[in-house]
Amino acid sequence: MSLSNNLAHIQEKIETACKKANRPSESVQLIAVSKTFPVQDVQALAQIGHVDFAENRIAELNKKIPETQIYPSLRWHLIGTLQSNKIKDLPDALFLFHALDRLSLAEKLNAHMLQNDKSIQVLLQVNASREINKSGFRPEDLLSVYETAIRYPALKICGLMTMAENTTDAAKIGNTFREVFELNEKLKNQNLSPHYHGWLSMGMSHDFEIAIQEGATHIRIGSLLFGKRGI
Ligand SMILES: *Cc1c(COP(=O)(O)O)cnc(C)c1O
Repeated sequence: MSLSNNLAHIQEKIETACKKANRPSESVQLIAVSKTFPVQDVQALAQIGHVDFAENRIAELNKKIPETQIYPSLRWHLIGTLQSNKIKDLPDALFLFHALDRLSLAEKLNAHMLQNDKSIQVLLQVNASREINKSGFRPEDLLSVYETAIRYPALKICGLMTMAENTTDAAKIGNTFREVFELNEKLKNQNLSPHYHGWLSMGMSHDFEIAIQEGATHIRIGSLLFGKRGI
């Protein structure tokens, strides 16, 4: 299967899931998670008009961005944990950082952006599955975290990100996504920040259809599009 076939196949599945959920298919953005895959794969998808790409490491992001500069409409996302000593390496061209998972990072990120006269769009990562090996804020802390985070002038808090349990139990996955959907509704209704768009980044190759059912606006798909990752 070629990349363009894989992309068409996924787009069909997105459309079907949207119909089933009674949502317009434009309400879901497909982010191609190109981590570990060669930049040629990104170029091939960019060539046929795909726009959103994600990496989980800054080094790989900084390698691929310059190599795809002939496609100025690309939007790059960082979906992995950010070490505070790497803040200085964040690319200017970053569209959205999905994994703001601690307030100490928010403070440092804000200070760095202010110092450089910049701002950054971010999502708050929620550990809704409450797994100890996952990062993210606890659901019960989210409202107060949000109220703190929106006071950092260089951080534009646009929405939430989560990862469900790695399980085949669809009901369990659905419950996790639903909890984050409801948190997102609460934050939207607070109406405290003009930057809060209620973006909801949830769903990967194995669970994106459930995520669409539960209101995801951004789905992050790697292996289903590019193939199995070696590492
Ligand atoms: C790798 C990764 C994905 C994509 O996972 P697939 O199962 O390959 O679709 C999505 N989100 C995050 C945070 C990731 O690190």
